[in-house]
Amino acid sequence: MAEQTFLNEINKRKTFAIISHPDAGKTTITEKVLLFGKALQKAGTVKGRGSNQHAKSDWMEMEKERGISVTTSVMQFPYQDKLVNLLDTPGHEDFSEDTYRTLTAVDSCLMVIDAAKGVEDRTRKLMEVTRLRDTPIITFMNKLDRDIRDPMELLDEVETELNIACAPITWPIGCGKAFKGVFHIHRNEAILYQSGQGHTIQDARVIPGLDNPELDKAIGDELVEILREELELVVGASHEFDQNLFDKGELTPVFFGTALGNFGVDHMLDGLTQWSPSPMPRQTDERVVEATDEKFSGFVFKIQANMDPKHRDRIAFVRIVSGQYTQGMKLNHVRLGKSISISDAVTFMAGDRERAANAYAGDIIGLHNHGTIQIGDTFTQGEKLKFTGIPNFAPELFRRIRLKDPLKQKQLLKGLVQLSEEGAVQVFRPFINNDLIVGAVGVLQFDVVVQRLKSEYNVDAIYESINVATARWVSCKDGKKLDEFKRKAEANLALDGGENLSYIAPTMVNLSLAQERYPDIEFHQTREH
Ligand code: GDP
Repeated sequence: MAEQTFLNEINKRKTFAIISHPDAGKTTITEKVLLFGKALQKAGTVKGRGSNQHAKSDWMEMEKERGISVTTSVMQFPYQDKLVNLLDTPGHEDFSEDTYRTLTAVDSCLMVIDAAKGVEDRTRKLMEVTRLRDTPIITFMNKLDRDIRDPMELLDEVETELNIACAPITWPIGCGKAFKGVFHIHRNEAILYQSGQGHTIQDARVIPGLDNPELDKAIGDELVEILREELELVVGASHEFDQNLFDKGELTPVFFGTALGNFGVDHMLDGLTQWSPSPMPRQTDERVVEATDEKFSGFVFKIQANMDPKHRDRIAFVRIVSGQYTQGMKLNHVRLGKSISISDAVTFMAGDRERAANAYAGDIIGLHNHGTIQIGDTFTQGEKLKFTGIPNFAPELFRRIRLKDPLKQKQLLKGLVQLSEEGAVQVFRPFINNDLIVGAVGVLQFDVVVQRLKSEYNVDAIYESINVATARWVSCKDGKKLDEFKRKAEANLALDGGENLSYIAPTMVNLSLAQERYPDIEFHQTREH
């Protein structure tokens, strides 16, 4: 019986993230999804531009000011007989590293496309990332209340540009001012749209059957004729949903609707909860770990400092890969070889932090981090395992950071090291001087760092330009050769926030020369924690 409950709990979990190009409607659809999950009473205005009602996933000051979502948050809610975990990802491309790592912690993705625009740049890149693990993809064609592109053409574009077969599950009836709803191909019924109901769950009118004369009356002769013609064509020319191909990331079910009008989101959620996989196995250095393995295991994909001003602490987000978390259990922090007692992990019920009594494979729990946990760390119930494939990317932009008040050097260093633990920026301390160099993948991260240093660590810092082109993490199997390298290349060496040896190159040419001169030294562009 207990065994059965355990398996049921795991099987009912669906953990996903949304990928999209900025402005396609990710925040809006998140709100509506939470509305269906009964996690929000009423959908607020998106990101509160100008108002104070923010989507619950947006936490920090920066986000409020700029209307961008910087942090990754986790929202859990029940939907029908399933329990859904939605992992929010930052929309801005300067935070793409965070997004990449979050995608290692989900089992499926929802791809939101602005149907007036089609496949855009960032969606292309994110799809490439999902390909690394063949993550199953569900597609939502958004903004049907606007004049969109020809739906057939949209599917073609997804198929050719993203190299994934499309299986339309619903089909739009008109668009823009003439948007009447969708025809649900699988349920063989038309579902009619009412405008102006975006903030609530609609009691939509449903008309069964494509040849139902009621449909002619409801949407008019012209649209009904187009619909019947299109559907005949679509059903003949497009793919049918195939669970197996979906599981392999080779075919995506496609839904049409409007997030703003809260129409079609529920059809998508029905499909997602029905078809997307329950918690999937993950690879370690030793073996593959199945979600249904009895013993707890999980990995850290994200660290967030000072998430909630009321709780001045750092939270390490752990994706549970197998087993079950119970309050007070002992876990092995594998990298440190230390056993710790976890008494107060947090769960993420739609953005509110609560004490988690129980959590299962597929869930995310937050561990309080007092500086010992790093991104990529594995926790188990004793076994020595290390989950693989959680990368850190070498930064491409560099600045020297300097204090306005030189007495706060210690605070500055502490802040930088803690912020670099989150993985968004790297801090480097050269061997030969007292500089502090901040490296980032995107330029916006520099602003975030200065702002957070001020609000969370009470230090005023400014940047100066510095002559650094790139950085590499270095390692060498031969200890003697490494020592020699350390001596000879000292002027270019530094330690990062996690005390890892790094090579700071003023130019790309300098880097290639160093690589030639020291063939036994490995220069890494990514660092697996
Ligand atoms: P994100 O950047 O992907 O999170 O996109 P948002 O959810 O912030 O949406 C970007 C803009 O598109 C906002 O002004 C939304 O109000 C608008 N939007 C989102 N969904 C729809 C929709 O279905 N129809 C229309 N007309 N606008 C939408």
